[in-house]
Amino acid sequence: NSFMELNLSRPLLRACEVLGYSKPTPIQAACVPLALTGRDICGSAITGSGKTAAFALPTLERLLFRPKRIPAIRVLILTPTRELAVQVHSMIEKLAQFTDIRCCLVVGGLSTKVQVTALRSMPDVVVATPGRMIDHLRNSMSVDLDDLAVLILDEADRLLELGFNAEIQELVPYFPLCFVRLCPKRRQTMLFSATMTEEVDELIKLSLTRPLRLSA
Ligand code: AMP
Repeated sequence: NSFMELNLSRPLLRACEVLGYSKPTPIQAACVPLALTGRDICGSAITGSGKTAAFALPTLERLLFRPKRIPAIRVLILTPTRELAVQVHSMIEKLAQFTDIRCCLVVGGLSTKVQVTALRSMPDVVVATPGRMIDHLRNSMSVDLDDLAVLILDEADRLLELGFNAEIQELVPYFPLCFVRLCPKRRQTMLFSATMTEEVDELIKLSLTRPLRLSA
């Protein structure tokens, strides 16, 4: 039960070592090998379980393994709150510190102009809250998700609550689905949720293909 057994490349193993992770948490041990196959995954996992690295490590590994042909956003991670986005972004930066993978943070409350510049430089990974990301996709011609390979819906139960509070609820009953529609059909989707409500199940049906289910 070590990171070595998870088939991760040296730069990622080194990052885990520097971070002081001696062995994978249960969700990491379960998720990493499955996610590396490219299959869709849904998991019930709470904050504190190590779920961020559980989805980040196989995602970064796949980026390393499949170098990009053109500069493009290849991974989008949606989180319900700015605080969570900041945490996930910081985790990705730490895990990717020995690679040339670039990650950018797109949340409300930060300068839109700075974010547009960052997005136009085509970071590999974008960690975003839905509202601000939608603004960029609507308003900036040069920002799109056409080359996206991996979509991650983090804390899906809370992402759905955002949709219910917003005025867009009438237009888009399942708010995160607007992103799903903007992504290529051929992609890997991972969804994590603390609770598995009927709404989360509905979102899973609409956005994932034959997902592997895991809980840890
Ligand atoms: P998360 O559930 O992703 O919010 O992670 C909770 C905390 O666990 C974070 O501070 C991580 O840095 C830490 N963590 C994640 N994976 C491991 C691991 N394999 N060993 C020790 N700590 C970890």
